[in-house]
Amino acid sequence: MTEHIVRAEAFVCRAPIAVPVVNAFGAMAERVAVFLRLTDAAGVSGWGEIWSNFPTLGAEHRARLFDAFIAPRLLGRAIADPAGFWAETDRALHLWGLQAGEPGAFAAALAGADLALHDLCARRARLPLWRWFGGADDAPVPVYASGLNPDAQALAQVEQARAAGHRAFKIKIGFGETRDLATLRPVFAGLRAGERVMVDINQGWALRTAAQMVQRLAEFPLDWIEEPLAADRPAWEWAQVAGASAAPLAAGENLRGTLEFHQALAQCHLGVVQPDCCKWGGASATLPVARAITASGRRYCPHFLGGGVGQLASLHLLAAVRGEGLLEMDANPNPLRSLVIDPVLRVAEGQVALPEGPGLGTEPDLAALERFLVLRTCRDA
Ligand SMILES: [Mg+2]
Repeated sequence: MTEHIVRAEAFVCRAPIAVPVVNAFGAMAERVAVFLRLTDAAGVSGWGEIWSNFPTLGAEHRARLFDAFIAPRLLGRAIADPAGFWAETDRALHLWGLQAGEPGAFAAALAGADLALHDLCARRARLPLWRWFGGADDAPVPVYASGLNPDAQALAQVEQARAAGHRAFKIKIGFGETRDLATLRPVFAGLRAGERVMVDINQGWALRTAAQMVQRLAEFPLDWIEEPLAADRPAWEWAQVAGASAAPLAAGENLRGTLEFHQALAQCHLGVVQPDCCKWGGASATLPVARAITASGRRYCPHFLGGGVGQLASLHLLAAVRGEGLLEMDANPNPLRSLVIDPVLRVAEGQVALPEGPGLGTEPDLAALERFLVLRTCRDA
């Protein structure tokens, strides 16, 4: 029997960091995470996370959107079919998101709730999340070190990430040709056999620059070039850049909705597609999109650069879907990630083993996170 949900909580955490994470649109001087917990009448809990990297001041707002608009739709209900709940709530939130002028914030709040619901269901079924998602392969999952800063920091961070077990590295560029090439040359000069490098422009180039820069970048055997253009530039611009580039293009963290992903697949500009399950779709809508990505011959590489709950959810999604994709793992210090994942994940030879145990494989230690907690919302049935 499926128990009804009796409590819905959101935890907003903020952690200052010593070295900002730099990208082409700005810098992150602190790390935030919005964790969600749903608890049922039997005392089983499921955890989710709402994307809130940018702007970080929006984290509390997203937690409050969850508390005001989504928690009341969960409480008192016995939900055995998270995908049905996601579809029903996505329809309900659609007009509110439009009216508010912020469909993305509503979508992220629902994505986090959906992940918590799946985790709750998997724990009730005593299944690891990847198996609950329909996965059959328990082999380790390939990963890459992400968020590596430009300039001299890039080489130092690659060396650190290599020492931590990584074999693939993604570096932030988009700071001008001279600086970008100076960032990448020493990294490639020191690369070892079997290692890979990707670059991320974070939507930082206009068409002319993008078309020129992807040709300059042909001197490096890049695994992919991420978001050379803004996500909403027309298909012909993406086609022009893809045609000029030796490396496949990647994008997806700034696409929202099944239709946008299917349009991107049909337009054929991307070799790597990167939905963020905490930003849109949760697991319910990401799983079918991810399967469409691999079925179309592209790589599904979950986007993720937040806290530990979303990191684990992304791992389980990739483990369930497989294909040739890699899991994005932020290489920058972030206690909101490491306090959650370090007990269950260890990178070795560019891979992580799947955590054992039901659901995500662990639960956030609230006592350890307490010093970062800035807001907790709680609603009971
Ligand atoms: Mg990116």
